[in-house]
Amino acid sequence: MTTESALQTARTQLRRAVELLQLTENDWQTLSTPRRILEVAVPLRRDNGNVEMYKGFRVQYSTTRGPSKGGVRFHPDIDMDETVALAMLMTWKCALTNLPYGGAKGGIAVDAHTLSLGENERLTRRYTSEILPIIGPERDIPAPDVGTDERNMAWMMDTYSVNAGFSVPGVVTGKPIVLGGSLGRTSATGDGVAISTIEALRVKGIDQKGATVAIQGFGKVGYWAAIALENLGLKVVAVSDVSGGVTGFSSVADLWKYFQANGNLNMPGTDKITQEELLHLDVDVLIPAALADSVTEKTASGIKAKIIVEGANAPTTPGGDQILNDNKVLVVPDILANSGGVIVSYFEWVQDKQNYFWSADEVKQNLNDIMMKSFREVEHMAKDKKVSWREAAHMIGVARVAEAHRLRGLYP
Ligand code: NAD
Repeated sequence: MTTESALQTARTQLRRAVELLQLTENDWQTLSTPRRILEVAVPLRRDNGNVEMYKGFRVQYSTTRGPSKGGVRFHPDIDMDETVALAMLMTWKCALTNLPYGGAKGGIAVDAHTLSLGENERLTRRYTSEILPIIGPERDIPAPDVGTDERNMAWMMDTYSVNAGFSVPGVVTGKPIVLGGSLGRTSATGDGVAISTIEALRVKGIDQKGATVAIQGFGKVGYWAAIALENLGLKVVAVSDVSGGVTGFSSVADLWKYFQANGNLNMPGTDKITQEELLHLDVDVLIPAALADSVTEKTASGIKAKIIVEGANAPTTPGGDQILNDNKVLVVPDILANSGGVIVSYFEWVQDKQNYFWSADEVKQNLNDIMMKSFREVEHMAKDKKVSWREAAHMIGVARVAEAHRLRGLYP
């Protein structure tokens, strides 16, 4: 058995798209190289007075189609290779959904759970200050990801603005509404996962009413996807977080209430399951919405779901993908399935630029329009070229970036 790193996985997927599109070796060189990589040391004064050093990263993989765009992750395992891989995925995702952006990613190798509120703020502000020369509304626009949320975005926006001397809301997205955030951004990725799920059920000819779903990850993506799907009449039968899984709850809303009050999923009357048991449940839809590499050569063969909707980035390794394809599981790939977040981030940036804010209905309608258009394009490409949905999605995204490269030419 081989285990692939997130970067190996991303490069394998890119190589395949380049081959399918019959692009040149020059195109491969251009497309497979990140444009700007910054590693910074982020000192943190702990509440007890001790000073600790953390590694911070920001990768601007591409700026060919516009400013780079991507999340900021606080997670102890993050490193430069993974950040490059995630920035590469953001590039194809923005191109697939036709947003005027390149791709980026960043983060700090830290466990956010170990930080007090004050420590989190100091770390976020210092990180922002270290990457400040390369971010900005026309350069690179960070957003929340694993371990960060709208609070971190507010601190990032404030740090940037204090340095600029005036308010610059467009420097980050995923901000609180009162600071220029967009209605609908908090739930956008989960809403987009739900749109993808409904469309995938249509393709597979499965009735959405009562269709069963298991979700790995109960954070910003997993929770909102669960709520949206439950509201659409599907039955969420299991969810998990880092501590393990749970099944047998009556509704996601009830479980969430318990989780908010107690900080764990051990709600009385429910049953505990392991991550692997969750992945192998006999459900219609499996949604990995936690971290990379959860569906691997080892776990894929036991998967009984007919559809996988990738809420997380890079949750499936190429080995896992092969097994799912052989078993005729429909995989809606990350760059399509979880694109709702960056789509509404784009709406937020547009609203900030215009100082004119949309209604929740406008946001929802425009999100739906873009996701449905991308979904149809991927569906048609997969059918026409007889490739998997992942290959189709990458072909569309990569082709757009390659064309933009060609049209802009090579300077000097
Ligand atoms: P989050 O920090 O809000 O939630 C992550 C969830 O995963 C938590 O419930 C956590 O307990 C769980 N988790 C962590 N490690 C786990 C493990 N080993 N096994 C099982 N569960 C584990 O993060 P999020 O924003 O929901 O992001 C989740 C995934 O979705 C990431 O891959 C992220 O890059 C991707 N994503 C997020 C957004 C967004 O808008 N937040 C957009 C697109 C993609």
